[in-house]
Amino acid sequence: MSSSLLSRNQALQHLVHQHLNQLAMAEGLVPDSILAALEAGSMVLLGNPAHRALEPLLVGQPARVKINANIGTSPFSNCPDTELRKLKAALAAGADTVMDLSIAGDLDAIRQRMLAACPRPLGTVPMYAVGQQILDSGAQISSMRPDQLFAEVERQAAQGVDFITVHCGLSRRGAELAAGRAMGIVSRGGSMLARWMRENDRENPLLEDFDRLLDICLPHNVTLSLGDGLRPGAGADAGDAAQWEEVINLGRLAAHARERGVQCMIEGPGHVPLDQVRTQIQGIKLLTDNAPLYVLGPLCCDSAAGHDHIAGAIGGALAVEAGVDFLCYLTPAEHLTLPDEADVTAGVMASRVAAHAGETALKRPHALAREAAMNRARMALDWEGMAAAAIDPASLCRRREAHRNEEVCAMCGKFCAVKMLRPEG
Ligand code: SF4
Repeated sequence: MSSSLLSRNQALQHLVHQHLNQLAMAEGLVPDSILAALEAGSMVLLGNPAHRALEPLLVGQPARVKINANIGTSPFSNCPDTELRKLKAALAAGADTVMDLSIAGDLDAIRQRMLAACPRPLGTVPMYAVGQQILDSGAQISSMRPDQLFAEVERQAAQGVDFITVHCGLSRRGAELAAGRAMGIVSRGGSMLARWMRENDRENPLLEDFDRLLDICLPHNVTLSLGDGLRPGAGADAGDAAQWEEVINLGRLAAHARERGVQCMIEGPGHVPLDQVRTQIQGIKLLTDNAPLYVLGPLCCDSAAGHDHIAGAIGGALAVEAGVDFLCYLTPAEHLTLPDEADVTAGVMASRVAAHAGETALKRPHALAREAAMNRARMALDWEGMAAAAIDPASLCRRREAHRNEEVCAMCGKFCAVKMLRPEG
């Protein structure tokens, strides 16, 4: 392994030694192609050795598209036990990663419990913890000292957090460019940083002192999820100067991080009308040298409140087909309230369907195999086979429960078209 990124990142090298063959098997990829993709930065291996019992995970096509579920407390709903139940619901629904976005209560205790209960990579936004400390003390975010932010990153890296969202590409100029938008800055972390820069008349410390961040993350193989603090929060804002100014910064920062041996993903939009999804994704991939792209949705319309997981899944399927590697779910509670367990399940499933639809369009072998298995079983009225092929076997079985002993299903009964055309006898 003479390559620079792997030779510079000892923690990553250790993970690769331990898990490469098993990961290659799981992804249906050749080990050397994974090594080449890790070196090129088009794939990352999520995993902090301090996260005990973790199963490291590859993110980056042609590895399977991964799904993230966001959970965490809020000032209106601060029950760590509920968040642990939501963690379990997300994993049971098939989430590949989870992000703890808690902003209320004892964040360290909540995070430690989640790390202990989560065998999948766990992500955070360290800016939230610093923001909570400051706002809960009654002070303004403008009073933040950059040292507080770097110290928080250091602490979370030592605790075992596998990837962190950091809004390093959000510059003063970018924040100013967003002033004329329909929805301004909708990123929680981005808005705090933008206010800090404006009220201190200073540049973003995560941008100015980026190498300090790399020094902290490298020993723990913490992967940077370079945040889209200027993502469009309305379709009308998609593709504006503020968004692209940030993407250009993220591309430059990702290249530098790779030179230093630190892995990076790029976070992407947001609210994007369907006719712009492909160009957005291809533009971001071009400007970030094909780094793994992690998008929220994207939501293809702004007015689907209560059903934003559907708006996100429609945009997500197109985004995967255009090259996205990692989907952050949206739930029916988006823009309205904190999701409950049922929302978490619905959100993960919607994103899994979106990823599968995109991978089917890309003719990914695992996706085509699942489609073929479903069609074979359906044609044979083989309900066990259908359950085995289904993205959500639990829902299939639950809906069939009342007629599970019937050969056909309750939709058509004796009018079953599949059976109608079978030869007699
Ligand atoms: S009963 Fe109708 S819906 Fe059900 S398997 Fe047959 S054709 Fe399909």
